[in-house]
Formats: sequence, structure tokens, C-alpha cells
Amino acid sequence: MKNVAVIPGDGIGPEVINATLEVLEKVSPKTFNFQSVSMGGNAIDKYGEPLPAESLKICQNADATLLGAVGGPKWDNQPPENRPEKGLLGVRKGLKVFANIRPAKIFAPLASACPLRKDIADKGIDFIIVRELTGGIYFGKHESFTTPEGERAARDVMEYSEHEIRRIAHVAFKMAMGRRKIVTSIDKANILTSSRLWRSVVEEVAKEYPEVKLNHLYVDNASMQLIRVPSEFDVIVTENTFGDILSDEASQIVGSIGMIPSASLGEDNRGLYEPIHGSAPDIAGQDKANPIGTILAGAMMLRYSFNMSTEADKIEHAVDEVLREGLRTGDIYTEGTKLITGSQMKEAVIAKL
Ligand code: NAD
Repeated sequence: MKNVAVIPGDGIGPEVINATLEVLEKVSPKTFNFQSVSMGGNAIDKYGEPLPAESLKICQNADATLLGAVGGPKWDNQPPENRPEKGLLGVRKGLKVFANIRPAKIFAPLASACPLRKDIADKGIDFIIVRELTGGIYFGKHESFTTPEGERAARDVMEYSEHEIRRIAHVAFKMAMGRRKIVTSIDKANILTSSRLWRSVVEEVAKEYPEVKLNHLYVDNASMQLIRVPSEFDVIVTENTFGDILSDEASQIVGSIGMIPSASLGEDNRGLYEPIHGSAPDIAGQDKANPIGTILAGAMMLRYSFNMSTEADKIEHAVDEVLREGLRTGDIYTEGTKLITGSQMKEAVIAKL
């Protein structure tokens, strides 16, 4: 049995997670032991904190963790140290995952949903963003203070050490070896000292992968090139904050935020798998949530944690077929296609399996 810790979370989290568990059970019956874990807003309500120690322990002992999404307006006024997102950062840190993998690929049936010009989209879009996940500004020192002039001020520190850069660079180069062998490292080395270290360490790691071509781009330029020539990217590697922003940009290039999975990996095979979207409080409880992002996150879990590529392929093909038949949840609906609910989407995927 493969033990999977499952964090349904808040908002649409439980809806998309339940759909995914059914899909996983269908593609490989009696293979998984799912253990539900409380994290996020629901954990604040129940236990007074977003990530109870017991929840983290279950995730740490599991072979992989599957997460829906956390957060919502109900908890927006919590103090910073007790917000649902704190649970998210805590679980990433506790699982020692440092590499976030987000594929940006156009599903052929959704090509018309790509907001880019047809001649640009037609060249094909299929790249992966490898984002550093446990360093940089989000984990640096955060401080509010008063200046000597009596003005309110604040600072957040962006810090990277060599080993953090080296290990994420290896993830990117290894991924590139199984793909088109191009790594683009994105930084702001013309201004930031941490970026200059980033660039020099990435260049050192590149020497171990002579077959892979390494390019460097400044993050502002990269945000333009992703729209101008997305087909030229294969594997992008970048630090936490730049990766956070660029991966949302990439999600819009390839369609809805509801379609995209992500994997967060550490030194071993045990990863954290989740869709890139949040808890979507605006549509929670209305059966409108697109479960595909989470279903595909489940497929990534099969591939990266459990070495079950055949089953992962089956899920991805099932999703492709359903889209080919014109079935769409609201977020990916266009004229001429058929609007269905989140549960109907799940049923349609299961039927293809
Ligand atoms: P969001 O991703 O929840 O929603 C953005 C928009 O996309 C909304 O209009 C929503 O309806 C739509 N959307 C998102 N997922 C969808 C899906 N599967 N199907 C159809 N439509 C979908 O982002 P937000 O509104 O900025 O954040 C809402 C809450 O989620 C906040 O509390 C935020 O902190 C939290 N959040 C959590 C995570 C996470 O758990 N990993 C990530 C991002 C945001």
C-alpha cells in the first residue's frame, strides 16, 4: 500500500481533492491508503492553529502528500503567524521540499483559450518552471520598524546560500536532460547581490551537464519573452518570488488556473502535490470548481513519487479525451463547447479510465 497524506483544505479544496481521490482509486484500485489531514483555515477553527503538529507528522510519515488549497476571507484577519498560508509554508518546510515543478503546456483542445496570438501559440508551448521554494524573501527576515524620523518602515530580506542554489539547479538540469536540454535561469543579477551568487552557482552546476544549453535572463525581460516567444523555453529555473510571479503568468498563457498541477520535491521521492490555484471562495460549494489541476497533480504524484508512469499517462490521456469531446467547466468554457459541473468533469474523466 502507498500511504498518501491528503490535505483537502478550505474552499474548493475538498471538492477537487475528493474528485482526485476517486480518479486515483479508479486508475489503480486498492493501491493507496489515503489519510485525511487538517490544515489551513479549517485547522484554525478546530485546533486554533493552521498546521497542528499531528498533521505535519502524518505528512512527514507518508509516501507523498496531496493538497487541495487553503485560505479564505474568513481567516483574513488572523495575525500573520496564524494565517492559513502559514500552514502551507510550514508543510513545505516540514517536508523539506525545495523544488516546485510547474508544467506549462497547452492542451491541444484548449489552444483557442490561449490569449496569445495564434501564430505564437501555434509554435507549441511546453515548458516547466522549476521554482526554488524554501528560500528567498518569503523565508527571509521580515521586520517592521520606525525610522529615526518617526516614519513607519518595513523590510524583507532576500537571502540565498550556495547549497540552496546548487540543489535546485541540479533539479532543473536533470529535468532538462529528459527533455529538450535547454535551461533558462532567471534572475536580476544586474541589481541584486543574491542574484549574482545565483548566476555564478548555476554556471558552476551547468559544467556537470555539458549537453544542456544554459541561458540567463533578467526577470523583467523573461516576463516579456514568455509572452513573445514561449515556444523557446524548455526548463526555467528561478528563485522563489520570481518563480511565484512567472508561474502565474505562465498559467494564463496556457489557459485556466484551474488546469495546472504542481509538484514540490525534496531530496527523496516523497513530494507534495497540489493544483496551483487557491481555495476560490467565490465559487466554493457550488460545484463549479474545475478538478483537472488537482487530478493532474495526482498524476504527477504517480510519476514522481511512485514510479507509476503508465497510470500517470492514462490519467493525462483521459483528461485530454474529455477536453477533446468539448466538455468544459466554467473557467475553461468557450462558445460551442458544453458547460458542465465539477462533479460531471470528474465523472467524465473516470469514465475514460
Ligand atoms: P484563487 O486561485 O483561489 O482564485 C482566483 C480565481 O480563479 C477565482 O476567480 C476563482 O474562482 C478561479 N479559480 C481558481 N481555481 C479554480 C478552479 N479549480 N476552477 C475554476 N475556477 C477556479 O486565488 P485568490 O482568489 O487569489 O485566493 C483565494 C484564497 O486562496 C486566498 O485566501 C489565498 O490566500 C488562497 N490561496 C491558497 C493557495 C494554496 O492553498 N496553495 C494558493 C493561492 C491562493
